Amino acid sequence: MSAEQREVIIIGSGPAGLTAAVYAARANLHPLVIEGEPSSTSDQPGGQLMLTTDVENFPGFPEGVMGPELMMRFREQALRFEADIRTEKVTKVDLSERPFKVWVGDPDADEPTYLARAVIVSTGAQAKMLGLGEERLIGHGVSTCATCDGFFFRDHHIVVVGGGDSAIEEAMFLSKFAETVTLVHRRDELRASKIMQDRIRANPKIRFQWDSAVEEVVGDNSVEAVVVKDVHTGELTRLEVTGLFVAIGHTPNTWLFEDQLDMEDSGYLVTGPGTQTNIEGVFACGDVQDHTYRQAITAAGSGCMAAIDAERWLEAQG
Ligand code: NAP
Repeated sequence: MSAEQREVIIIGSGPAGLTAAVYAARANLHPLVIEGEPSSTSDQPGGQLMLTTDVENFPGFPEGVMGPELMMRFREQALRFEADIRTEKVTKVDLSERPFKVWVGDPDADEPTYLARAVIVSTGAQAKMLGLGEERLIGHGVSTCATCDGFFFRDHHIVVVGGGDSAIEEAMFLSKFAETVTLVHRRDELRASKIMQDRIRANPKIRFQWDSAVEEVVGDNSVEAVVVKDVHTGELTRLEVTGLFVAIGHTPNTWLFEDQLDMEDSGYLVTGPGTQTNIEGVFACGDVQDHTYRQAITAAGSGCMAAIDAERWLEAQG
């Protein structure tokens, strides 16, 4: 079977990818959006907003909007301009020559699935884990998504790890179900925004375990307790909880592009000028290249930039 030839392929379907799709479609580039597959956290169609609740800071929604609904609207808008959105997962890319090659399915297949004159990378980022092997209990007490799993913890005692906006958001959401939520943070000061800090401090169900790091997740088949260590004294405390929500930041989804696109040590793609990567004709937008702002609105803005950059570059190629 021969590869399908496209003008622009957009890899990823969060706010960046779908905004790029709207702009590229309206520029008559007939973009193909490979949106990922729902079974995987790193390839979640719609991106991280699919795993959140209220989005209160996206302009144009004065009452706020639920993350999944916002992403459904992005998707509908892209479809309205006839972006071709496919629920597939990219398994390999070859950006060494043009047209660029993109595989979905078997990465060892001789023939790529698609050829593209330009590629827009918008693969986003995914939740970091603690490095204690706690992944073994995902779905059995360990989670990175309160929205997805909070309901299962009605009247339970839960730990949330982290001190940023995500941790506060998770803790606040979980407090609707849980008996208590203990926020474990490695310092004695939150990183989260002032408004979120004020909210969490006013919540009677939330306790704070300052200057503490999770040392051990106890339980063979499900979470039975979490042992935390005081980072100054080394004292260990066992918290009798059945849930552990990890909210300590994100890692960019860039493994597909290793040894092809320039990355920072942290794995984020390097872009500039504009959304251009080190390979002409390959552009990147959204969280995959942004560890500073990481907002839906900034991702959407950079998706718009990537589509315009791609359109101008293709135009210049003739
Ligand atoms: P973040 O701001 O980077 O915060 C990560 C938190 O986890 C920090 O408190 C950090 O501690 C802690 N941490 C990191 N690695 C750790 C480890 N190995 N063990 C224990 N703790 C660890 O990440 P985020 O909360 O996911 O937020 C990311 C961005 O999204 C931010 O710009 C945030 O404002 C935004 N956001 C906004 C909203 C909202 O406005 N509603 C909601 C969610 C996220 P230290 O503080 O000591 O570094």
